[in-house]
Amino acid sequence: MSRKTKKGSKKNSQKENIIKIEHELSEYQNFKKEEYTMLFTNYRLKTFSEWPFDGDNSCNPQALAAAGFYHIPTNTEPDATRCFCCYKELDGWEPDDNPWEEHQKHSPHCAFLTLSKSVEKLTVDEFLKLECERQKNKMKKYFHMKKEELKQHAGNVRAEMAKINR
Ligand SMILES: [Zn+2]
Repeated sequence: MSRKTKKGSKKNSQKENIIKIEHELSEYQNFKKEEYTMLFTNYRLKTFSEWPFDGDNSCNPQALAAAGFYHIPTNTEPDATRCFCCYKELDGWEPDDNPWEEHQKHSPHCAFLTLSKSVEKLTVDEFLKLECERQKNKMKKYFHMKKEELKQHAGNVRAEMAKINR
């Protein structure tokens, strides 16, 4: 009986692990899909369906998408945007902001800005150079996010330990 229970629980934890891995994989696949579609202006444009400023303002969805940005709204930062190439995230947009100029101001070395062409018009050579830069930036962003996550976790552990020691 105990053996049966043991086997059963092992099976359950295996099943949980598989579900967890599948979930992680699906997140990874979504990320990959987003990652490549965001290279194209028309896909970036689609992300701005809830954008507060329309075509009468210089900071409109078309101008943002053309400047490399896509919309990544959160509860605390509803106007957060990210460049598909340098991964720079900007929020706090004003209606009369010029997205291209803001991009240059905050990320002067972005490879997309340097090329000054939409991805659809790049030569193969230019595309590969851009893709190489983008991958480097993606890794930097990933490690930065992991570092922040780890810092947060360490802070939580520290707080819990302080409670125990009290
Ligand atoms: Zn950029």
